[in-house]
Amino acid sequence: MRSLLVKVTTAAAVVFASFGMSQAAALPLAPEPVAPVAGIPMPCPVTHEWPGDDVPVETVAAALAENFGFALTGTQWTEASRGSIKILWQTLDAVECSGYVAQLQAKVNGNVGINAADISGFAWGDWSLTKPNHVTMDFAKFQRALDSGDDGRLVRLVTHEMAHVLNSDRHSEPEYWKIFKNLYATQGSFSSYAGSSVTETFADVVGYYVGRCAMENPYDNGENAAYYEFAKTYVFGGKEFGPAAGQTPECSIPDSNAETPMPAPPTPQSWIEALSQE
Ligand SMILES: [Zn+2]
Repeated sequence: MRSLLVKVTTAAAVVFASFGMSQAAALPLAPEPVAPVAGIPMPCPVTHEWPGDDVPVETVAAALAENFGFALTGTQWTEASRGSIKILWQTLDAVECSGYVAQLQAKVNGNVGINAADISGFAWGDWSLTKPNHVTMDFAKFQRALDSGDDGRLVRLVTHEMAHVLNSDRHSEPEYWKIFKNLYATQGSFSSYAGSSVTETFADVVGYYVGRCAMENPYDNGENAAYYEFAKTYVFGGKEFGPAAGQTPECSIPDSNAETPMPAPPTPQSWIEALSQE
């Protein structure tokens, strides 16, 4: 991550030099660089600072609930999950300036909670399946990605599950959803996980937009530029979290044998409607 900041600083110096300005004169005009957080090359400036690695975990959980507006349930808000809780915190904070969390909370009248609990089967996270109206995250599985240094995949997973909440108003055919469905009809498959599911494609288009350091990120490929522009324009209000589609961000390289964190499989329509009372 240090190398990323050095490159940005160097690029700024080159620009100023080319205009014949001295760096001493130009520096006060340069924006404050924002330090990248794990898995996200260009996060929002910090709004809610991580309380610290030595703060009691129950204090951290209470602050997370207070700062980001989620009711917390489940059995995994424990010391053993501290690394996973930190990734969750930093991901929510990294998107704070885009209004992403406020936007998705508004879709469910502020009633979405986070349930940290075991998920049976292969899924690492789900929306409204394990517990209705909650995003469930299995921090015990998260730890396996942390052990592999694959923070980017967890950022994508957290953002992906939250995107399902954002998309829970789709049956009323809001403008953004009509546009996305048209886009999907022309662009087709985005990720191997989402396959031919339009709702999973939406969640991955949003999730990988923030989690740019996830291994095999579909945005590393310029073919997904239209999906990138959708997420930028209709979900994040112009805020970007990494370089444009087609450019691979500089990230610490995860273990090539890292296990792929899996969202839950697409939910049968009737079931999700029953659960979320849509
Ligand atoms: Zn999903």
